[in-house]
Amino acid sequence: MKSVLEPVNLTSVNPKRINLLDLDRKGLAAFFVGLGEKPFRATQLLKWIYQEGVEDFNLMTDMSKSLRAYLAENCVIETPEIVFEKIASDGTRKWVVQTSCGNRIETVFIPEEGRGTLCVSSQIGCALACTFCSTAQQGFNRNLTTAEIIGQVIVAQNRLGTEKRITNVVMMGMGEPLLNFDNSVAAMNLMMDDFTFGLSKRRVTVSTSGVVPAMYRLSQVCDVSLAVSLHAVTDELRDELVPINKKYPLKELMEACRDNAKIAPRRTVTFEYVMLDGINDSLQDARGLIKLLKTVPSKINLIPFNPFPNSSYRCSSKEAINRFKTVLNDAGIVTTVRKTRGEDIDAACGQLVGQVKDKSRRHLKLQSPGSERAA
Ligand code: SAH
Repeated sequence: MKSVLEPVNLTSVNPKRINLLDLDRKGLAAFFVGLGEKPFRATQLLKWIYQEGVEDFNLMTDMSKSLRAYLAENCVIETPEIVFEKIASDGTRKWVVQTSCGNRIETVFIPEEGRGTLCVSSQIGCALACTFCSTAQQGFNRNLTTAEIIGQVIVAQNRLGTEKRITNVVMMGMGEPLLNFDNSVAAMNLMMDDFTFGLSKRRVTVSTSGVVPAMYRLSQVCDVSLAVSLHAVTDELRDELVPINKKYPLKELMEACRDNAKIAPRRTVTFEYVMLDGINDSLQDARGLIKLLKTVPSKINLIPFNPFPNSSYRCSSKEAINRFKTVLNDAGIVTTVRKTRGEDIDAACGQLVGQVKDKSRRHLKLQSPGSERAA
C-alpha cells in the first residue's frame, strides 16, 4: 500500500464566474447562444477541455479574440483537487478529493482485465441512513456540482495518465445520485459525449437506493444502465436496512424498475444485494428474491458486506453466499458475486467516508418527490 500526500490548493476563484465544467453540451450550447454565438461553440469548447486538456481560454484559437476575452473574464474551468492517493495491493486506487468548500469526497478506480471502472461520488456524505453503509454515518452536507462530479473523472484520468484508461463509470461512490438528479444527469451526459470521454450508455451505471419518482424521470431523460440497491425482499426488513423504503416501498420500487426496463429491448436492471449474516441470506430470502424479480428483467450482484468501525453486521459466510447464488442461478437469474476490491485502503463498497464537515443537513433526507433539486 502506497500513500502520496499532495499539497492542498485552496485558491478560490471569483465565485461569480461560471465554471464551464458545470455545463453539458446542451447547457453549453444554450450558454453560447445567450452570448449571441452559434451553438457549435459548445463542441469546440468540449474538444479543448476534454480532448486537448486546455484550460487557458487564450489558447482556444478557433474562437474569436473577443469571445476568448469574454470567457477569460467571466468563466473558469475548475476541477476539484486530489489531496490524497492510496494504492491497494490489488491495484485499486482511492483518491480523496477536496471540494471548494473544504469537504472531502472519495473516488475509486478499479482496474480489471480489459477494463477500468471509476466509482464516482455524487454527494458530500449521504442523507439516507442505510444501516450497513459507512457513508451514511457521515451525515449529509450538500450535493456535488456537475463540475465536481465530472471533475472526478477528469482528475482521475489525468492521474492515471496514458497507462490506464477509464472505460466504465459507476455512480456508486458517496451519496445518492438520484437525490442530486440534475447534476448527476448532466455529468453522465458529459461522460457519454463523443467529444469528452465517449463512454457508451452500457458503461455508465447509476445506482440508487430506490428514489422512485426520480427513477421515472431518469427513464425519460437519460439512457444509462440502472442498478438498484435492494438488499431485502420484505418491506419489513428493507424499512430497517434502507429506510427510504418507508417512503417508496417494494411494490412501487418494482413498478419503477419495470418501467426502466421498458426503455429498450433486452434491457436489464441490476439488483445489488449486500450479504448480511443471519439477516437477509437465508434460502427463504433467496426464494423471495426470485418471486420479487419474476416480472423484471434482472441481474443480481451479491455484495459481500464490508465491515467498518462500529458496524453491528457481519458478512455472510462463503458457503451461505454460494448457496444463495446457486438458488438464484438455478432459477435462471444471472447472479454474480462482487469481488471485494481495495479493502486494505478502505475503498470497498460502503467504506467511503471522505470528510464531511457540516453534517447538520441530514434533516433534508426523505424529501418530497421533486424537491431533490433543492437539496
Ligand atoms: N446511494 C446509492 C449509491 C451508493 S452505491 C445506492 O444506494 O445505490 C454503493 C453500493 O454499495 C450500494 O449498493 C450500497 O448498498 C452498497 N454498500 C453500502 N455499504 C456497504 C457495505 N458496508 N458493504 C457492502 N456494500 C455496501
